[in-house]
Amino acid sequence: MQRILLKLSGEAFAEPGTKAGVDPEIARMVAGEIAEVARRGIEVGVVVGGGNMVRGAAFAERGMDRSTADHMGMLGTVVNALALQDALERDGVETRVQTAINMQEVAEPYIRRRAMRHLERGRIVIFAAGLGAPYFTTDTTAAQRALEIDADVILKGTQVDGVYDRDPKLDDAATRYEHLDFLSVLNQGLKVMDATAISLCMDNQLPIIVFELLREGNLGRVVAGEPVGTLVTSRGA
Ligand code: UDP
Repeated sequence: MQRILLKLSGEAFAEPGTKAGVDPEIARMVAGEIAEVARRGIEVGVVVGGGNMVRGAAFAERGMDRSTADHMGMLGTVVNALALQDALERDGVETRVQTAINMQEVAEPYIRRRAMRHLERGRIVIFAAGLGAPYFTTDTTAAQRALEIDADVILKGTQVDGVYDRDPKLDDAATRYEHLDFLSVLNQGLKVMDATAISLCMDNQLPIIVFELLREGNLGRVVAGEPVGTLVTSRGA
């Protein structure tokens, strides 16, 4: 792996025991893992989610206009992006935040060629505000940006150590897949990323690795090619 696209859900920034808000300590832990990989010379793009702030679909179910709620969700991702940027820079890593909704007082606009240049210079690029369009998710953003920046792989950091056939928190008999193919993910409705994101990866042969984010050194192990988490490709095991 030379260039990776790391997808972090909004919940990765939340205070322990909650799924909401931003905890600076957690942001520092996540940043430490990313910084370690960047120091090895791996080029890192990060797409941050915003589910710890607002999920558009959930707000729409409660009567809010969907597009407005999605815009709120996208703005939430920017809060997370700035928290991560701050933590990374405290760790001595140069970063840029690029947003798909212009807000030039706080971040650069998303410009693909500029993003590529930052990556080549060893800067971590944090992509925020999703795709800038309602009805999409940051998983789809991760697939789309990974393709645009020609990343080798999407690394999806989660709270569990891979993809299971059943919810491991509810069922002790749940087993983890080491390798899956895209079609099985879609057909079985496995929780890797949403269907739009999976289709985009499938159509463009972009592999995904789902791994546990907050286990110390785990991101480094994934990048080193160790068999951590679940690998999703066109051909399963
Ligand atoms: N969102 C959107 N368009 C995008 C990306 C995100 O409208 O391109 C909105 C959507 O409302 C979504 C919210 O931003 O629910 C937060 O993103 P997401 O749910 O993907 O965050 P995660 O689950 O990764 O924390």
